[in-house]
Order: sequence, then C-alpha cells, then structure tokens
Amino acid sequence: MMGHHFTIAVFEGDGIGPEITAPTIEILTKLAGTNRDYDLTFVNAPAGAAHYARTGESLPAESLRIAGEADAILLSAMGLPDVRYPDGTEISPQIELRKHFGLYAGVRPVRVPVGGVTPLKMAKDQWIDFVLIRESTEGLFFTQGTGEVSHDEARETLRITRAVSEKLFAFAFKMAADRKAYGRGPGRVTCVDKANVFRAFAFFRGIFNEVSAQNPDIKADSAYVDATALWLVQKPWDFDVLVTENMFGDILSDLGAGLMGGLGLAPSADIGDEYAVFQPCHGSAPDIAGQGKANPFAMFLSAAMMLDWLAMKHNVPAMCKDADLLRLTVEAQVAAGTTLTPDLGGTATTQEAFQAVADILCAGRK
Ligand code: NAD
Repeated sequence: MMGHHFTIAVFEGDGIGPEITAPTIEILTKLAGTNRDYDLTFVNAPAGAAHYARTGESLPAESLRIAGEADAILLSAMGLPDVRYPDGTEISPQIELRKHFGLYAGVRPVRVPVGGVTPLKMAKDQWIDFVLIRESTEGLFFTQGTGEVSHDEARETLRITRAVSEKLFAFAFKMAADRKAYGRGPGRVTCVDKANVFRAFAFFRGIFNEVSAQNPDIKADSAYVDATALWLVQKPWDFDVLVTENMFGDILSDLGAGLMGGLGLAPSADIGDEYAVFQPCHGSAPDIAGQGKANPFAMFLSAAMMLDWLAMKHNVPAMCKDADLLRLTVEAQVAAGTTLTPDLGGTATTQEAFQAVADILCAGRK
C-alpha cells in the first residue's frame, strides 16, 4: 500500500538549470521509488529568462497555478544577464515567487563536517554547522523594480514590518529549538542588524527582543552585520541560528557559501506559512551552461531540505531518513574528493558526479 503522495512543482530554469534539475529528479525518484511510505509526482512549471525571450512572459499564470497547487516547489536558478525587461532589470521569477507566496524565511544552512572542504584552516576535529535565516519579502528589496531613478538621484526604500518580523523571529526560535532537540546546536538565535545607526534596525531588534522573551529556553543575542561578517570568517563554529534582513542576508549567505567551498555546495529554502521553494543559492551560471560542468550538489542538498520540510509538515519519518541519507552521501562524496566537478577542483562531469551519488544511494537500498 502506498503512503503519502506529494506533487512537486519544478522550475527547471535557465542556464545550467535544466542540467542540474534532471539528475535531482532522478535521485528523488530513486529514493521515493524504493520507499513505501511516500511517492512523488513532478510537474514542470515553465518560467524564466529564456521563456521570457521566447514568449514575452517570465512567470506565466499557469506556472503560478501549478506552484500554488503543489505540495512543494523545486527550483534550479533563473535569469540570464543578456535577457532583460525594458527598464534594464533582469528576469527573476524566483524573487517574485517569494513575494507571491509570502516566503518570508530564507533558510541557508552552512555545514562543513569534520574533514569537509573549506578555505579556512580548521582543527582536525572542528566543524561548522549554523543556519542563516534571511528575511525574503521586504527589507531593502521592498522597492525592487520600482525604485525612483532620475538623472541626479536614485532612491530605494527599506521596509520592515512588525507582522513579518514577528513571524520571522518565531520561525528562527523554533528552528533553534528543533536543532537543539536533534543535538545540532546549543539553542541560540543571533539577530544580525545595524541597530546602532538605523532606526528601522532598532525597531527590528526591539521586535526580536519581544519574541525572545516568549522563548526563554533559547538563548538570544544581537550583533551588528559588519562585525558578523568578520566573525563568520574568524569563528563560524560559534554560531547556531542567525536571523537578518533581506539584503544583509543576501550578502552573508554568499559568505556562508564561501565557507563551504563555494556556491556549488550551498542549498537554500524559502519558507512561508503554507508554501516553500527549495533551490540552490547559486544562479544560472551561463558561463558554464551546456558544457556538462555544473555541480549538481547544491541542488541535491536543496532537495534534501525539501524532503525534510515535507516530512515535518506531514509527519513522514521515512522522508527525514531519506533527506539525511542524501545529505550524508553528498558530504561523503565531497570529503572523498574523487568525483568532484571543476568548481571543487575535480574533473568530473555533472553526470559523473550524479552517478557517484546515485550509486551509493542505490547500494544503501539493496
Ligand atoms: P552564478 O551563481 O550563476 O555564477 C557565479 C559563478 O559561480 C560562475 O562562475 C559560475 O560558473 C559558478 N557557479 C555557480 N553555480 C555553479 C554550479 N552549480 N556549478 C559550478 N559552478 C557554478 O551568479 P552570476 O553569474 O552572478 O549570475 C548568473 C545569472 O543567474 C544572472 O542572470 C543572475 O541574475 C542569475 N541568478 C539567479 C539566482 C536564482 O535563481 N536564485 C541567484 C543568483 C543569480
């Protein structure tokens, strides 16, 4: 008897998008196919820069409907530097999806296991394991596409609302509590802001302190974003959960990707009350598109986050186990260093990197 059935909307996107989407779906199909507790159906949702160039539409209503009716949304990367709207900005449906579905919590886990790849000099028994939560619907992205620009001046507006901030901080405290329950961190949330200079960030920190008072079992502290950038390089192992504004999070999450050895290993999730999009942190990498060089691992790790989210939401422990298996298999591949794509210093193709992970997953299931 089959258990839970989930429909996944798939935005295969631009550039290397289709090249990393196909192996990701193959892996998810393999995992679900050998599991009696759940199965997955994938529905393609066309959108993106190439789609805009072909049809004049970047995010068709039909694709939004597919995403809205799905249980989760899996996305590779969208946008191509040469394809732009008449106002000169790029096609970025992934940002529109965040606003449309109210995906306020951008979750960016940064994990370097013992012996993993990182440009830092770490002690042999040292590891990094923190989560950056980037508010993803407002902040300095509030006027994205509608900023005022004249010959002499340009203005964008930073907006921080109580309603979104309360939900964001509640999400961060819950994540710290869940991590603590799984033995993944001491149960601590750090609010990253610039409250020493901007009233808007003093407001942000004030709401953080209110939500912190409702979560007495979780430690809470605050740090300025500039100092945080320094500490994330000097002592990233000190952090557990960090929560911050949209633009600060945008920048710090690439720093986090750097700690993990590059964008090719950095997964993410954009989560709201009902919906969630799972996608790698990187873009469409047009410089290597079509060459079979793209690293599919960040998308595999994003798919693992999707399995985790569905598992927690619908109480399907088997999916959590599969998420762990996929994550640990990718981490083991990176540590072994034998089948890595060129961005990680190897010579493997996308297909070979995929096959190495798929072989281990299949062997684990025999
Ligand atoms: P990018 O992340 O696409 O590429 C930056 C560098 O990292 C490139 O050298 C690229 O080859 C490399 N790289 C990225 N992902 C890789 C992977 N999986 N394997 C191997 N190498 C990888 O950033 P960019 O060049 O600034 O942007 C390219 C396009 O992607 C732009 O149109 C941009 O707007 C878009 N973009 C989309 C998203 C998204 O969909 N979430 C995010 C960032 C950028």
